[in-house]
Amino acid sequence: MVDMLVTRTFPREEERMNLVTRAEWGAKKPTASYTSLRATKGVKIHYTGGAVPAGLAEPANHDRCADLVRGIQRMHMAGGRGERYIDIGYNLVCCPHRYTFAGRGPHALPAANGAGLNAGHYAVLALLGSSGLTEPNDDLLHALVDAIEYLREHGAAGPEVKGHRDGYSTSCPGDPLYRWVKAGAERP
Ligand SMILES: [Zn+2]
Ligand SMILES: [Zn+2]
Repeated sequence: MVDMLVTRTFPREEERMNLVTRAEWGAKKPTASYTSLRATKGVKIHYTGGAVPAGLAEPANHDRCADLVRGIQRMHMAGGRGERYIDIGYNLVCCPHRYTFAGRGPHALPAANGAGLNAGHYAVLALLGSSGLTEPNDDLLHALVDAIEYLREHGAAGPEVKGHRDGYSTSCPGDPLYRWVKAGAERP
């Protein structure tokens, strides 16, 4: 008789998340407490829009990603979106080197989906523009799925994955990323 082999499953390489903590990217402290969220219907995907350097995805340029994240936090907290936010508006931010930067994190109300739409979905930003770097590479898509899975595991995010433009008038997250969302937001 042959014993049944019990195989342990290990996380596959593509399921490993590279989290950049707030301390690691040099985040400023929030100016007030977050409004807490028990759970959401899912996640909405965003892009930065505007000009993102075409060479950002090159391996040597990952330092630029943290610069961009700090710049977005600075802009949000300075009132660049119309009011001074207490912190960067996104729950997580993903870069084309497959790193995920901690924003507000799980169980916190984002400020990115549009008025009245923030309690329904977490907000995850891709460092991707409407000029320069406009096409998501595989590492960015992996990072986005890493972020979605993280929010499901740690933030009770539901199964929905949508784009910012779903239910709100905006080009965000851009056509290439939105096509990926509509196709099921799967790993490449
Ligand atoms: Zn957006
Ligand atoms: Zn990067």
